[in-house]
Amino acid sequence: MSYQTTIQVGVETCGVGLHTGVPCRLRLMPAPADTGILFRRTDLDDFQIEAHGRNVARVSYATSLMKQGVLLSTTEHLLAALYSCGIDNVYLDIDAIEVPILDGSAEPFIKLLDQAGTKRLRRKRRYLKVVKPLEVAEGDRRIGIYPADEFRVRCFVDYPHPLVGQQEIELLVSGGAFRSLLARARTFCFSRDIQPLRAMGLIRGGSLENAIVLTDEGVMNGPLRFKDEFGRHKALDLIGDLALVGLPLLARVEAYKAGHALHTQLVSKLLADPSLWTVTTEEPRRLSTADGTAGSDVLTPASAAD
Ligand SMILES: [Zn+2]
Repeated sequence: MSYQTTIQVGVETCGVGLHTGVPCRLRLMPAPADTGILFRRTDLDDFQIEAHGRNVARVSYATSLMKQGVLLSTTEHLLAALYSCGIDNVYLDIDAIEVPILDGSAEPFIKLLDQAGTKRLRRKRRYLKVVKPLEVAEGDRRIGIYPADEFRVRCFVDYPHPLVGQQEIELLVSGGAFRSLLARARTFCFSRDIQPLRAMGLIRGGSLENAIVLTDEGVMNGPLRFKDEFGRHKALDLIGDLALVGLPLLARVEAYKAGHALHTQLVSKLLADPSLWTVTTEEPRRLSTADGTAGSDVLTPASAAD
């Protein structure tokens, strides 16, 4: 039997938003069962925004939530850490419009969760179990979600760059697998895109300390943390966006050259059609070790870049 969780104690961090450059303090606080993951804008009288597909806002370079005109940006790395670690209920108190980017990965959030500890609550965990497939495509980009007894993702990227090329990551999502395989993979951008993005009012908080910057030939601020750090980061983003389902998933997700827009479209279409899923408290079948750290979690960490 699986029970809902929250964190043991409050923890906090601060930093700047990647796109807004606005300094921000983020505090994670324990929450009771059935709260879900709930942002509270402490600069706006604790205005609450649920981390849920119904609140997805425009998505270009980061995932944003919007409720009654109140925006909250760049949720994906924080949500990826919470969702992978099985934190069902938490208040995310934030005093600005955008989650801090920190080092561009989810590792600082994992460290925060380590400080916070996990607390089991006396309410059964509910899963969203997919029973019929759903696919969304846009040109040659696509994403699909399929019935499965556990939460598994497969993510394929293809960028015409000597250090990237085709990279594919597949994993059974768990706290252990996320921590060892994805959490440290950082955001990246291409140096040729920096001026256009700045001109659009984006990446005002971007720096060589919080994003890998790729030049035409190589990387401006190496070394990379993994040879296939780009594919790993996209898988991290994917999990963070899938967290907007609002419940732990029992499903297999495959993303092919997808991005935030397609990820969140999939979530919205899934939630809009209850014939595609059921909500169950049934324990998922576990094929790996209890904490999910088995070596078999990564099936194909392949890189075509070498
Ligand atoms: Zn990202």
